[in-house]
Amino acid sequence: MPEEYGNYVSGEWTESESAETFDVLNPANTNEVVARFQQSSTADTEVAIKAAVDAQKKWANTPGPERGSVLQDASQILAERKTETTELLVREEGKTRSEAAGEVQRAIDIFAYYSQKSMDLGGVVKSPSGREKELYTKSEPLGTVGIITPWNYPIAIPAWKLAPALAAGNTVVAKPASAAPNMTRVLFECLDEAGLPNGVANYVTGPGSEVGVPLTEHEDIDGVSFTGSTAVGTTVAQTASESLKRVQCEMGGKNPTVVMPSADIDEAVEILGVGAFGTTGQSCTAASRAIVHEQVFDEFVEAMVEYAESVKLGSGLTDPDMGPHVSQSELESTLEYVEIGKEEGATLETGGEQLTDGEYADGYYVHPAVFSDVDNDMRIAQEEIFGPVLSVIRADGFKHALELANDVEYGLSASIVTQDLTEADEFLNRIETGVAKVNEKTTGLELHVPFGGYKQSSTNTYREQGDAGLDFFTSTKTIYRNH
Ligand code: NAD
Repeated sequence: MPEEYGNYVSGEWTESESAETFDVLNPANTNEVVARFQQSSTADTEVAIKAAVDAQKKWANTPGPERGSVLQDASQILAERKTETTELLVREEGKTRSEAAGEVQRAIDIFAYYSQKSMDLGGVVKSPSGREKELYTKSEPLGTVGIITPWNYPIAIPAWKLAPALAAGNTVVAKPASAAPNMTRVLFECLDEAGLPNGVANYVTGPGSEVGVPLTEHEDIDGVSFTGSTAVGTTVAQTASESLKRVQCEMGGKNPTVVMPSADIDEAVEILGVGAFGTTGQSCTAASRAIVHEQVFDEFVEAMVEYAESVKLGSGLTDPDMGPHVSQSELESTLEYVEIGKEEGATLETGGEQLTDGEYADGYYVHPAVFSDVDNDMRIAQEEIFGPVLSVIRADGFKHALELANDVEYGLSASIVTQDLTEADEFLNRIETGVAKVNEKTTGLELHVPFGGYKQSSTNTYREQGDAGLDFFTSTKTIYRNH
């Protein structure tokens, strides 16, 4: 029997009133059930919301440094559990061991970072111009918030929402994605052990319709912080806005890397290889379009194909270059896009086929695919694939490359590989993305600077991470004080 885990509500691990559960399989070996979780109902979600609402005032009135010390202790506890958590992340989501270790470390660091930030919350004192003796602002917690997260960074993303929410004095109901709910559970175990008061943070697993929707609709929820697909995020933003909740959605991407003639082609290929095939292409910031100047197009394609063919696939536990897709449906979606690309007339240079023999027989493995002769209007150049598929698009100059890079509805991350400073500056100024990089891969973010997209990649309401990560979770009160 697999290990069964409960929801975490009012400081207790509880079963769903539905008495139903769901299993999470190891994507590298689907014969292994990693764990069993509660298939919660709307009623379960409402109980969790009530627990969070009841705990809110007291937590808001707890001094910031005291709130921060809980996060600091939770960070420490997670650090002590890093090895087992890393292995569990590999078995649940399919990342390689190195990728998983990096992500767990990120969660440890995020908790530590916001534990410090909880001391800095305050406000700004201004000089009054009227009768009042004092004029200042005060940061207050938003209230009770819903946190809805995807499966692809199943510990880092919940951490970068939970930590600022708690640091700022909010109470929380967190809903992880059903493909990978274990990592949020681990964060909650760490918070519990660190002494987080009952009800301050609650964890409910289950379908979007029963857990996510009530969080976006409920009148006692003051804000919803969502990361996931643009399709779901759009409905979350609309529903939450109907009751005037604060809402923040960070969503999909179709990220370009431009390669100019001055680039070192080996370096460009490495940047695109890691950017496109790292985390099996399942990053919102993954590079999925290589926009390559025609002077170096053939040389680039040849080297990129060689790179793709050298990528070693395997169970993340053996720490190969690339692990499996997270699920059958993600695998099928990638395979479908490979077919779409072929039908659209792009040239499949390599990869794109499922691996079904030997050690791969029970996992969701696909060889990394490189398409050339891709037209920017094709679906494979416009739609988020969320798998290891790179479209190489020809540009006849810098201006054309920039136009192609911006000619997409998403705007999350972009990079350029060039030795030309003028091109680099022009690119940084004119690219329509929330993250812009020079001579770097589109993936990889620092925790202490803002992160978020432009266009359809984000509601563009608030940024996450860094100081900006606190903005969503706080309200500003302006105080005129006369004696
Ligand atoms: P998803 O949109 O399918 O699900 C995200 C979360 O929303 C899950 O917890 C899901 O259960 C929940 N949900 C589903 N329906 C809901 C509803 N009607 N109301 C409320 N919640 C609902 O996304 P996914 O497949 O888990 O994740 C992959 C997507 O996430 C990709 O599009 C990727 O680009 C995006 N992503 C974006 C960022 C970013 O910061 N921009 C980071 C990581 C992933």
